[in-house]
Amino acid sequence: MARHGGGRVWYGKVVGAAIGVTMLATGASVWTAQAGGAGESSPKATAPTKPASDVKPVETSIAHASEAGARGVNITIDDGPDPRWTPQVLDLLREYGVRATFCMVGTQAQAHPDLVKKVVAAGHRLCDHSVSHNTAMDKKSQAYQSQQILDAERMITEASGGVRPMYYRAPGGAFTPYSRQLAASRGMRPLGWNVDSKDFERPGTNAIVATVERELHNGPTLLFHDAGGDRTQTVQALRRLLPWLKEQGYSFGFPVR
Ligand SMILES: [Zn+2]
Repeated sequence: MARHGGGRVWYGKVVGAAIGVTMLATGASVWTAQAGGAGESSPKATAPTKPASDVKPVETSIAHASEAGARGVNITIDDGPDPRWTPQVLDLLREYGVRATFCMVGTQAQAHPDLVKKVVAAGHRLCDHSVSHNTAMDKKSQAYQSQQILDAERMITEASGGVRPMYYRAPGGAFTPYSRQLAASRGMRPLGWNVDSKDFERPGTNAIVATVERELHNGPTLLFHDAGGDRTQTVQALRRLLPWLKEQGYSFGFPVR
């Protein structure tokens, strides 16, 4: 699997949190949580995760587009789950009938399996965001990258009760050709972002909203966080942005795989 050994390419900061949100007009539709991708199959997968069922390899390039099409946006939420903030974000998503993609840190998922199960039960998708959130991961050995990705995959899958992450977002966007290929072989599409809301830095709710409005033309995948500190501004910004996006004619979707 070390086919692209050596290539340390920094894929821009085009990767972040992936919360693919899907706004259901009625809020009542049943979203079939993607079962696609459970199991394991790739012959080159080294992960001792599960007995072969059918993990289907996905593309190795970094995804940004939305399954919801040209007018779709993907809400992605990173670094959780967190017992204080994730429930607030889930409430908000439910209120607006939006489905999102949660990029979870392995240890967080392991510590809060109840929250992982709630995320899945609400129809959101899971994304592997590594074990240690090392943003210099692209400078590390392939063995380290493999451990970070595969251990987090296992932690998240166990916490969810068997629902596998469908994407892999490198911490800080620190992808390598190797990590993309490994994740893809496990059915996790490398996931980027187009608009960093900068919510992590807590610039104020107005600033977060303004950043998204201003940069939305960059592409459909929006990055937010539900952990890593006080996320009050994130919650407040989403409360304004979700209805605004809908008014602008956007629909909420998941990133392509
Ligand atoms: Zn992150």
